[in-house]
Amino acid sequence: MSSADHLDDDCIFCKIIRVEIPSFKVFEDGKTFAFMDINPIASGHSLVIPKFHSANLYETPDEWVAVTATAIRRLAWAVEKTLEPAGVSIVQANGPGAKQSVHHLHMHVIPRGIDDDLMMSWELVPGDTDAIGELVERIKANLD
Ligand code: 5GP
Ligand code: ZN
Repeated sequence: MSSADHLDDDCIFCKIIRVEIPSFKVFEDGKTFAFMDINPIASGHSLVIPKFHSANLYETPDEWVAVTATAIRRLAWAVEKTLEPAGVSIVQANGPGAKQSVHHLHMHVIPRGIDDDLMMSWELVPGDTDAIGELVERIKANLD
């Protein structure tokens, strides 16, 4: 079965996978897609999604959670090597209390600074697309 069989017509992240809307892609393979967040809370804020539409962690089959976790490790390592932040948080939101805004499983890579005071919930503020486009090329150069 191809990944297209698992996607949703109206979901914004499924549209990114199908390249119906643009994104700053870092990498993709048969089961996952990694790209830059368009409202970055920190430089290097990026996302991994499975090529399987499901609303949240609980509704996602184990095999798709596993491939997403493997992909988040690859993305986080490339971001780590590119930006050398003081730390990296992996964030995954489920439900309104967690401020989940897109209902397709996704994991965030968020570079951290010492005492950056970042919260686990945040407002969506559009980023500088020129800066994001320059950074995605640097991260791609550090993929293993
Ligand atoms: P959540 O709030 O659900 O944990 O995270 C969803 C994330 O998706 C947000 O950080 C938001 O900025 C990001 N996002 C929403 N729409 C788009 C889009 O069209 N393109 C990209 N690159 N990111 C998006
Ligand atoms: Zn979807």
